[in-house]
Amino acid sequence: MPELRHNVLTRDWVIIATERAKRPEDFAKKKERKIIPAYVATCPFCPGNEKMTPPETYVVPDAKGWRIRVSPNKFAALSYLGERQRTFHGTRRTVTGVGIHEVIIETPDHSKTTALLDDREVEAIIQAYLNRFKYASADPRVEQVTIFKNHGEAAGTSLEHPHSQMIGTPVITAHLRDRLINSLKHFDEFGECIYCRVRDLELAEGTRVVVETEHFVSLVPYAALTPFSMLVVPRRHMACFAEINDAEAADLARNLRRTLAKLYRGLDDPDFNYVVRTAPLENTGVKYYHWYVSIIPRLTKMAGFELGSGMFINVSLPEENAKFLRGVQVD
Ligand SMILES: [Zn+2]
Ligand SMILES: [Zn+2]
Repeated sequence: MPELRHNVLTRDWVIIATERAKRPEDFAKKKERKIIPAYVATCPFCPGNEKMTPPETYVVPDAKGWRIRVSPNKFAALSYLGERQRTFHGTRRTVTGVGIHEVIIETPDHSKTTALLDDREVEAIIQAYLNRFKYASADPRVEQVTIFKNHGEAAGTSLEHPHSQMIGTPVITAHLRDRLINSLKHFDEFGECIYCRVRDLELAEGTRVVVETEHFVSLVPYAALTPFSMLVVPRRHMACFAEINDAEAADLARNLRRTLAKLYRGLDDPDFNYVVRTAPLENTGVKYYHWYVSIIPRLTKMAGFELGSGMFINVSLPEENAKFLRGVQVD
């Protein structure tokens, strides 16, 4: 019989379709792997093509030019210039589309993906995220800052060159506000951070843990909404991403890279998104919320039932996902 599991962090119900469950290896890409060149003359993110993107806002230089480059998105979703203004016409509400939309070019090498970088290179990406997160959060027009990566077409990118993005929006979404409120209610009722509690229970049980490092643990949630989705959770309680120290940033790089390398090797470079789920900077230090990184491999599509009901069907077992990934050898 299938089992419905409740995700206490997202408050979603998930049907774990055990009868339709695929084996972990069935999710591996079957298509032929393309050979990706290290340099593409027409790529706007490749070295030498800096003029194809707006002037950089952050750069990590090296002997040959740069290691990381951040620039405003040429096709930004929001306008950097202008004032935030709300208008109300009855039930029609609008806010001017101002905000910050940047592209973080993660490496000069067109062919690399996070799994193929080394820990120091990923650490520099995390430091770039931190710098840009603080920068965008300081803008009085910005209410919410989202850092995310789209890898592969199924994850929503057509640009092959390894990059991630940051968007600072002039409003806070219900998606984030509901999580803040629900974790606050849990704290008031039980006197604990729900995320700390979940992490501790998962560490004690062990069956859904994927990678443990000094300051972080990656795991497949008990009620994972989709196959192989994972959380990378800090061991120390922190509400906001900007609270991490340098040692933790280095360890996050280690954990994230290893976790992504297991996906890369185990499932043959699947398309994925990852996103930093954090409280806004102004909520720094609160006891009820806990930031983490969400990794969502795009192995299945949302269909009518998911869209219509708000419920998910996961055709894999979280415990099997985790066991499979634990068994994938990475350095
Ligand atoms: Zn490129
Ligand atoms: Zn916590």
